[in-house]
Amino acid sequence: MFERKHVDAVVIGGGIIGCATAWYLHRRGLSVTVVEKGRVAGEQSSRNWGFVRQQGRDLRELPLIMKSLANWRGIDAELGESTGFVTCGNLAVAPDDKKMQAMRDWARDAAAQGLESRVVSGSEMEALAPAMARRYSAALYTPSDGRAEPGLATQAIASALRRVGQEVVETCMVEDLLLQGGEVTGVATEGGEIRCSKVVLAGGVWSTQFLRKLDISLPQSDLRVSVGRTQAFAHGIEIPTWFPAVALRPRQDGGLSFASGAVMDHDLNADSFRYLGRFLPNFLMNASSLRVHLNSRFAEQRRQARIYRAAERKSYEEIRTLDPAPNHKLLERTRSALADAFGFPRDLGLAETWAGRIDVMPDAIPVIDQAPQAKGLTLATGMSGHGFGIGLGVGEVVAELVDRGTTELDLSAFSLSRFSERYFVKPKNLL
Ligand SMILES: Cc1cc2nc3c(=O)[nH]c(=O)nc-3n(C[C@H](O)[C@H](O)[C@H](O)COP(=O)(O)OP(=O)(O)OC[C@H]3O[C@@H](n4cnc5c(N)ncnc54)[C@H](O)[C@@H]3O)c2cc1C
Repeated sequence: MFERKHVDAVVIGGGIIGCATAWYLHRRGLSVTVVEKGRVAGEQSSRNWGFVRQQGRDLRELPLIMKSLANWRGIDAELGESTGFVTCGNLAVAPDDKKMQAMRDWARDAAAQGLESRVVSGSEMEALAPAMARRYSAALYTPSDGRAEPGLATQAIASALRRVGQEVVETCMVEDLLLQGGEVTGVATEGGEIRCSKVVLAGGVWSTQFLRKLDISLPQSDLRVSVGRTQAFAHGIEIPTWFPAVALRPRQDGGLSFASGAVMDHDLNADSFRYLGRFLPNFLMNASSLRVHLNSRFAEQRRQARIYRAAERKSYEEIRTLDPAPNHKLLERTRSALADAFGFPRDLGLAETWAGRIDVMPDAIPVIDQAPQAKGLTLATGMSGHGFGIGLGVGEVVAELVDRGTTELDLSAFSLSRFSERYFVKPKNLL
């Protein structure tokens, strides 16, 4: 299955974080193999909205997303492939005066880090988004934000990796980490072993269970987010926009991707209870937007967890790629909100609907760290709903961390140990 049985580094997970990390490891001169249990970008990385935004981010994350944006601007030329990235700005409509003030405060703090972002009035919004039918009094506008095509971007990186002779192997579960005296010596996969001294875990919503086997606690949970795509039509929208009831992005194919900007579903599973206390501050802040369900996810997540127990290894065929059902009722309401905002017909043609499971941390910022329990293992997970935009920046710093053991950018906010130092941590993002 593998052309090379020995490489410098193995990356577990072929989402944008895994592929970008592999790309920057390659640029540093390391040999690297990406091992993906399903298909490249089969989970979050192809299902997301495609916002590449600095806007509203937790200020601790801002240097990383600003770095990422700089990388996005040059990535097509670097890869020789199209990711669909364009700089187009981002708008977030203020539903009330309180939110508008919070946006002003955030823009002031972001400006101190060198990011231009400003609250625009109704008339400026009209000029920026002339297709908008409903009028709002203010919005946050960040001109240097962008958008890209989730259906293209990660595949583009994987293709470039293959072209330069690095391996990206699909339909291959990494079952275990191989360790000797506390140091990484390789990985065991369903296709055999690969020897290496460096492993990056970029496993998205699977990371918690993988680490539990190594006695590493990662308090990560997941949310189900439903998305719709319209047929191509003359919508006249250029800027991805976040309204209270709908978030939308113009697509390269002429349609729109849209989703609720306010409501997210959580399907109960064993980790919901295991990490309930950890997520309490986050839950209290977002209680009005969260809908909790008891459904087949409980059993599915148990199967996910069992995969990493030796006796039940081969039971993963049915859940190789998580493909949750979209919340159709919510999407119907969201489609109406989209139609209202722009004066589109209410029966706007839908081409496709889907959902994805987002990996979230209690404080809604990622874990990017070296695991003290296994020398050579680096964690890059828990992107908390914005890993697409931040992906290229994360990939570059993770590659630096793997290669040099240290990074120029301060990553202390993303340490795993923050959860042992403080039980309660809370989100500080605006959007
Ligand atoms: C509906 C939705 C909307 C979103 N909107 C946005 C947005 O607009 N902007 C934004 O920036 N972000 C957005 N996000 C979040 C973003 O998509 C994610 O943060 C990002 O894609 C995470 O990338 P990843 O590589 O960490 O995870 P994933 O893309 O989930 O990839 C992880 C991969 O690891 C593989 N894997 C796991 N365990 C193993 C194993 N043991 N062996 C082999 N392979 C394994 C999985 O199969 C999976 O393919 C959204 C997410 C969703 C679901």
